Amino acid sequence: MEEALHCEGCGAEIQTEDKTKSGYVPKSALNNEHIICQRCFRLKHYNEVQDVEYTDDDYLRMINQVSNTDSLVVKVVDIFDFNGSFITGLQRLTGNNPIILIGNKVDLLPKSTNRNKLIHWMKKTASDFGLTVQDVFLVSAEKAQGFDQVEKEIEARRNDKDVYIVGCTNVGKSTFINQLIRRSSGVKDAITTSYFPGTTLGFIQIPLDRKSYMYDTPGVVNRRQLVHYVTDKDLKVITPKKEIKPKVYQLQDQQTLFFGGFGRFDFEKGMKQSFVCYFSNQLMIHRTKLEQADEFYQKHVGELLQPPSPETLEQLPELTKQTIKIPLKKTDIVIPGLGWITVPDGGVTISIHVPKGVNISLRPALI
Ligand code: GDP
Repeated sequence: MEEALHCEGCGAEIQTEDKTKSGYVPKSALNNEHIICQRCFRLKHYNEVQDVEYTDDDYLRMINQVSNTDSLVVKVVDIFDFNGSFITGLQRLTGNNPIILIGNKVDLLPKSTNRNKLIHWMKKTASDFGLTVQDVFLVSAEKAQGFDQVEKEIEARRNDKDVYIVGCTNVGKSTFINQLIRRSSGVKDAITTSYFPGTTLGFIQIPLDRKSYMYDTPGVVNRRQLVHYVTDKDLKVITPKKEIKPKVYQLQDQQTLFFGGFGRFDFEKGMKQSFVCYFSNQLMIHRTKLEQADEFYQKHVGELLQPPSPETLEQLPELTKQTIKIPLKKTDIVIPGLGWITVPDGGVTISIHVPKGVNISLRPALI
């Protein structure tokens, strides 16, 4: 049997049959001395990300290999998509290895955010998901914030063992690893430009010292992530790029806010109060009366209520409604992948409409 070829960029097994699957190369490229898959090729030459999907089983199989190792697991999550970027069953997949959690994109939080509260919430939510983590650290992979501490912690906790970096797509895992490499070697954007060989396990292997390695595992696709339903153009609008500027809406009951056409907030019952919305500065928020909200949505989604663009709308699961009673304290309603709304006084009834599959959650207000 011929030995399988692997992409020198991402380590995926090379195939020539299906362009939409990982490891695709055109047959003509098979004779090249260095084979990189079309996705890595594009990424390298055009800085363009191609949508290639592993099946869910592929991921589980690949990540499950970590359970046979003696290592430290570093799980990267996006603090704006914490629930959406969670990998269910990670504890089982990674065996008895200790896990630390890295909350990335902290540069986007307003300065007044209480980081300790965020860390506490992340630990608690991880535990609710059945994941025991040793600790949580906040970083900005892009702005290189928080790395002194994270580097020290990884070094101290790995005890000379290997390190496996895991995470869902789009959480900033590559940016995080590139930042670690840049700090230790001065090499920029090492992962996307394929400095490191893929391994037969499908992981990219980066030497830490003479005996141990850091492994980049493939980004797991979590179907609940909103990012999988939206076009790149829409993603640019809903993804915050700069520190979020909160928007305040003083609402009476029976008023509605639309977050583009991706989410809807109905103030059903309670005393007038000022709700604070933390979303991408580009995402338009519209206020209407609750009684007109259904009609307003039907009429304007994909147009005035954009994003979603008409293309995104075709594949976006329909909005589903969930009604919640907010306790009598300052509470955040978190919409994974979009942002959150702070209810200042609590004691109100709110209905949230989000695409089916996106799970909202509540937490004590961070600000
Ligand atoms: P991966 O799929 O997990 O490897 O994610 P990438 O490293 O490709 O990053 C996904 C997106 O998040 C890109 O648009 C990055 O520019 C962005 N990103 C990554 N890290 C940060 C960060 O610390 N702050 C901000 N604001 N954006 C980030």
